[in-house]
Amino acid sequence: MSRTQTGIRASSEIFVAKPATQKSAISPTRVEDYAEWYQQVVRAADLAENSPVRGCMVIKPWGYAIWENIQRALDGMFKATGHKNAYFPLFTPKSFLEKEAEHVEGFAKECAVVTHHRLVAGKEGGLVPDPEARLEEPLIVRPTSETIIGAAFAQWVQSYRDLPLLINQWANVVRWELRTRLFLRTAEFLWQEGHTVHATAEDAVEETRRMLDVYADFAENHMAMPVVRGRKTDSERFPGAVDTYSIEAMMQDRKALQAGTSHFLGQNFARASGIRFLDAAGQQQLAWTTSWGVSTRLVGGLIMTHADDDGLVVPPRLAPAHVVIWPVFRGDDTRAPILEAIERLAASLRGASFGGRPIEVETDLRDIGGGDKQWEWIKKGIPLRIEIGPRDVAGGTAMLARRDRGPREKENIPFADLPRRVPELLEAMQRGLLERALAFRDAHTHAIDDRAAFDAFFTPKNAEKPEIHGGFALAHFCGNAACEAEIKDSLKVTIRCVPLGDIDGARAGRVHEPGRCVVCGGESSQRVVFAKSY
Ligand SMILES: [Zn+2]
Repeated sequence: MSRTQTGIRASSEIFVAKPATQKSAISPTRVEDYAEWYQQVVRAADLAENSPVRGCMVIKPWGYAIWENIQRALDGMFKATGHKNAYFPLFTPKSFLEKEAEHVEGFAKECAVVTHHRLVAGKEGGLVPDPEARLEEPLIVRPTSETIIGAAFAQWVQSYRDLPLLINQWANVVRWELRTRLFLRTAEFLWQEGHTVHATAEDAVEETRRMLDVYADFAENHMAMPVVRGRKTDSERFPGAVDTYSIEAMMQDRKALQAGTSHFLGQNFARASGIRFLDAAGQQQLAWTTSWGVSTRLVGGLIMTHADDDGLVVPPRLAPAHVVIWPVFRGDDTRAPILEAIERLAASLRGASFGGRPIEVETDLRDIGGGDKQWEWIKKGIPLRIEIGPRDVAGGTAMLARRDRGPREKENIPFADLPRRVPELLEAMQRGLLERALAFRDAHTHAIDDRAAFDAFFTPKNAEKPEIHGGFALAHFCGNAACEAEIKDSLKVTIRCVPLGDIDGARAGRVHEPGRCVVCGGESSQRVVFAKSY
C-alpha cells in the first residue's frame, strides 16, 4: 500500500507497511518497537521530557497546551453539570489517611511523606533535615484528596439544604511509582478530582454515572477516542469505594488504557470524615459521597490512539494550533509580497472559528529549510499546513496539506476560500480520526466463548505482529475472584470492566446475554471486557 493510502480513508488496519524506499520520521516504527516508538513520538513532538527528579516530568509548551485544551473543555462540562471549582491543601495529615482502612491500605505503598520543616548545615557539609524540626505528625503529599476534602465537607454540610454539594479541584498529586513513562505513569501528575456529597444513595449513584458519561462524551467528541463504559470488578475497585466505574480505550498496540474513573463511595468516606446532615424531619443522617478523576494520562491516550510512524496526530479540537503557515521564498524581491500575503491570510483565518474557539494560527518565519520545517510540524501533529510562495501570491492561492494524509498530498486553495474551508477540513479530520479509531477497535474486539481460543488470542506468538497482538476479548465471567486471578496469573490479562451497554462492532457479539464463565463454566449473566492493559 502506498503512502498516500495510509490516511484516514484507510481501513481499520493502522499498521500499514511501507515500501522499503520510504522512511518514516519516527524510528523505530510502531510494529518494530511500540514502547520505544511512544517515547520517540513524545520527544519528536516536543511534548515533555524527563526531569532531574526521578519519575517526574517536565511538560513542555506544546504538551501543556494540549493539557490546557483538555482542561478547558472538561471544565466547561463540569460547570454545565452544576459543579464549582475549589482548592484544598497539598498535604494530608497521616491520621486523616488512616481514617478509612481500605483506602490507607491501597495508597500506603506509594506515599511521599514529609517529616521535617527545616534544613540545617550538616557536619560533613551540605544540608540535612534539622533533627529539632521533626514534625509531630508526618504529612502525606496528596495521592488523592478524599480525606482532606472530607474534613472540609464535614464543616460545610449541616443540613439537607446544603446538598448536593458538587465540587471539583484541578491539582497535582503524587503516587510514588517505581517504573514510570511520560504521561502514562509518573510519580507526580496533573489531574482533576471531583468530590460530591448527596442526601441519598440513589442521588450519589446517579452522580457517579453522570460523570462517567461526561468523561465518555469528552473522550469521544474531543479526543476522538472511543471508550467502553463499565463497572470495575471488586479486585479493580478504588480503595474504599463501593463501586468504581471506568472508561476504557483501546490503544494501537491493542492494550486497554483506563482513561477515567468515577467512584460511588457509599457512606464509607462520610463515616470516616463525619459528613452528617439534618434531614427534613430533623433527623441526623450520614451522607453519601462520590469522587471522579481524569489526569495527564489522557495525553498518553491521545498519542497512542492517533499518532503514527511520522509522529503525533492531534485531534483538531485539542490542537494547540490548528494551522501553520510558512513562506517559500525565491529570491529577495519576493519576500515582501509573500510576508504580506501570510499576514493577511493569518488574520482572516483568526476571524473564523472551530469547535467554539477561534482558529489558532502559527506563522513560522524561521530561516530554516522548507523540508525540515515541514517535518517538524508533521511530527508535532498540527492538523493543517499551508505554504505560500511567489506563484501562490500571484495566483491568489495557497498550498494546503493535512496531517491525516500523506506528507506529499497537497491541495491548491484560493485565499478567499480558506476561512470557510479550514473549519470544514478540521471538522472532517475530527470525525475521520474518531471513525478510524472506532474501526480499529471494532477490528480487534471479539466475542470469545472457548478457553483455548481465549488463550490463543492473548498469546503473542500466535499473532502476525507479536508486538501488537490481542485486543478486547468479550467473554463470560461468573463473578468469582478466583477465575479472574487465574487469567491474570497465566496471561497477564485483566477484566477491564463489566460493560454497561452494548459495544458496537460485528465481532463483539451481544454483551447482555447469559452464558458460561470462560474459566470455570459457571453461570454468567453478561460478557465482560478482558484485555492486557497499561
Ligand atoms: Zn468462573
